[in-house]
Amino acid sequence: MNIVSDRIKNMAESATLAMAAKAREYKAKGIEVISLSLGEPDFKTPLHIQEGAKAAIDEQKYFAYPPVNGYADVRQAISDKFNRENSLNYSADQVVISNGAKQSIANVMMALLNKGDEVVVFSPFWVSYTALIEIAGGTPVLVKGGIESDFKVTPEQLEAAITDKTKAIIYSSPCNPTGSVFTKDELTALAEVIKRHDNIVVIADEIYELINFTGAHASMGAIDGMLDRTVTINGMAKGFAMTGWRVGYIGAPLWLAKACNKIQGQFTSANCGIAQRAALTALTSDLGPSHEMAKEYLRRRGLVKELLDDIPGVKTNLPTGAFYFFPDVSSYFGKSDGESTINNASDLCMYLLDNAQVSLVTGEAFGDANCIRLSYAASEADLREAIRRIKEALSKLS
Ligand code: GLU
Repeated sequence: MNIVSDRIKNMAESATLAMAAKAREYKAKGIEVISLSLGEPDFKTPLHIQEGAKAAIDEQKYFAYPPVNGYADVRQAISDKFNRENSLNYSADQVVISNGAKQSIANVMMALLNKGDEVVVFSPFWVSYTALIEIAGGTPVLVKGGIESDFKVTPEQLEAAITDKTKAIIYSSPCNPTGSVFTKDELTALAEVIKRHDNIVVIADEIYELINFTGAHASMGAIDGMLDRTVTINGMAKGFAMTGWRVGYIGAPLWLAKACNKIQGQFTSANCGIAQRAALTALTSDLGPSHEMAKEYLRRRGLVKELLDDIPGVKTNLPTGAFYFFPDVSSYFGKSDGESTINNASDLCMYLLDNAQVSLVTGEAFGDANCIRLSYAASEADLREAIRRIKEALSKLS
């Protein structure tokens, strides 16, 4: 029997997680796969944060249900962080802590969208945006930035995409999957468009804030007149190497924070108490370890850029944040190794998994079918070996 809902039938599986599962499957069979598919820091959570969690256990105070939106002192620390580091004046009441930034985005979509509402999605986009919009009954409207414009959407494109059904706009900066970073001027120009339209909320996904090589992180909500219509998504996973702890959070207009609290109260209740205490340690400590990790990502970016540029037919931009490359590999479409023909980016990913034992994610899942995503949150040795194997496997296609 299989009587799953239409909702599930119609929903795309998370391409990032599916590829990670495939890599694990291959590894379990003894095939030595280098996994560059999942965007997951290869660092351990810094020790002082681990100690914060241990101390919280020893305190014997954090084993019961926390308040749905998170402990008051953790929300206050997040409010302080927003004010101090981002000039975002969200109060602690405007903060909701969730089980990862993914749940934060899901909450926002469920809290905002009625059937038929449109959400403008800057494309390439992170895989789960469109699925979460659709689950909430909304319609994603993709606006595409191409590799020639560093994958960035322009104000003119945004204006053309807005209709009377537009309820929200979502983007990430630094961007997963392209690594592009919006400057303050670029966000200001986009904000000018948004301000011309009432009742549109911006969902600014800033989860890669701490992995930014431009030296300046800009927040949409910090632009004049935008705070009341911006929900800022952030979390602990990327900047603090805490993916498994599952702590994401938002700062939002109060009405939206309350709505997210309401939906989370029915879906999951609060985020894990001990994980929240670990997050408190991270948010109230020196950011040195996060900056050290970012420096290492920057070093690897240089290495990966050099290695990818050395492969014929692979076109890259220079990412200025996050830890991904999103190369255009369309010059390989239509080619074959004599056995399999590469028709698209998904075929190429499968070809590279089978022939180079490297797992990557197809760009189709991120809105650009000419590209593949490579995460360089991996050791230098793995990156060198993976790209050597990719180059060799690609050279067999003609
Ligand atoms: N955000 C990461 C990625 O894009 C983690 C995987 C996921 O949750 O999709 O790879």
